[in-house]
Amino acid sequence: MAFESLTDKLQNVFKNLRKKGRLTEADVKAALKEVKMALLEADVSFKVVKQFMKSVQERAVGADVMSGLNPGQMVIKIVNEELVNLMGSETAELLLKPGSEITVIMMVGLQGAGKTTTTAKLAGKLKSKGRKPLLAACDVYRPAAITQLQVNGEKQGVEVFSMGDKQNPVNIAKAAYEHAKKEKFNVLILDTAGRLHIDEDMMKELADIKEALEVDQTVLVVDAMTGQDAVNVAETFGEKVGIDGVVLTKLDGDARGGAALSIRAITGKPILFVGMGEKLSDLEQFYPDRMASRILGMGDVMSLIEKAQANLDEEKAKEMEQKFRKNSFGFDDYLESMNQMKNMGGLSSVLNMIPGMGSQIKDIDSMVDEKDMARKEAMILSMTPRERSHPEILNPSRKARIAKGAGVDMAEVNRLVKQFEQAKKMMKQMPGLMGGKGGKRGKF
Ligand code: GDP
Repeated sequence: MAFESLTDKLQNVFKNLRKKGRLTEADVKAALKEVKMALLEADVSFKVVKQFMKSVQERAVGADVMSGLNPGQMVIKIVNEELVNLMGSETAELLLKPGSEITVIMMVGLQGAGKTTTTAKLAGKLKSKGRKPLLAACDVYRPAAITQLQVNGEKQGVEVFSMGDKQNPVNIAKAAYEHAKKEKFNVLILDTAGRLHIDEDMMKELADIKEALEVDQTVLVVDAMTGQDAVNVAETFGEKVGIDGVVLTKLDGDARGGAALSIRAITGKPILFVGMGEKLSDLEQFYPDRMASRILGMGDVMSLIEKAQANLDEEKAKEMEQKFRKNSFGFDDYLESMNQMKNMGGLSSVLNMIPGMGSQIKDIDSMVDEKDMARKEAMILSMTPRERSHPEILNPSRKARIAKGAGVDMAEVNRLVKQFEQAKKMMKQMPGLMGGKGGKRGKF
């Protein structure tokens, strides 16, 4: 998960602040110095860190402490707000033309950044929003790029326009546009060729496509794992080709997260989406406020809920929410939620998004490993329906019966009950947030 070490460090800084009753200016200074080191270690651009610290310091020194907050919380609040500013306080959307007009999106980026994969991911996203996208295979240099796009396009149920690798990309783009017009597609996504490094030929080719076709959105795909290089690439593409937004891929594998924090400030262009894995569904909208909460270890409850809801049907989500509200979450629900979390790609990825859970739970996936799940299921199924819906009635003799029924020892039943209580407690923090509409959820 991105930002792990940054989050750990920042949490430490803030934990030390919280311990103090009253903060002196020196305390704040020392804390901010540590924040600065943490950001630099996370590979955030030096220029950005400098500007960031300046804004935070200006606000922190002489800030009126708001009622209900202690000075330490105030510092966290300011750092959070400045992190949001850094990443572009508004959530940026891909601009699409209305109705049947064709929006042309040109995907650009270096080889290996994840451009072809992201193109297919984006097509799937647009399709699920009711758009009719056409993909055009304009990468005629990289062996297998065309086939890769065709395979992924097919998986997404999206048509891919190709003219093989003997035509030049400008002609392919123009022909694809004509095809889109004739067949009434309303989004045309051009998968252009990347190179290993920025070179003049690539830039010229992209400029030529832009000349030949009215490109509405130029989207740059960069690899988060390359850190500052990604930022430099974005800066150059911005200057030479002109870009409207960025997709930051492989954020799932980038433990530092510096690129995510620097790109907006350096290029002035927003991050539109982040790639969170190799699967075609692993493309998420980028929300600066949620990302800031995640970095600070506040978790990202809204993303969690959305992720859950995309996997659950809506009815189920509502039902579950009602249960949290009425506090009638029982063992049946627990079992169901464990199964759902498993479907969501592991409990740890989900728990990581919950405030305060972040760094503490690293090996949690073992909690839902197959064998363990089977044993838990056996224990829950050995309970009577009443025990499942009213766990408070579980006394030692009932637990002994359950242990016997499931073929486990009593300690394991106790462990299950404890884990259930923990899960319930955790879920209980969520109802107020589940009904919320996003936006700022500073809980300092
Ligand atoms: P291109 O040369 O820019 O078109 O890059 P590809 O689309 O072929 O992607 C290069 C590699 O990165 C492939 O193995 C992809 O599966 C992988 N990849 C792309 N996006 C992501 C992502 O968000 N996370 C992870 N972990 N891998 C990704």
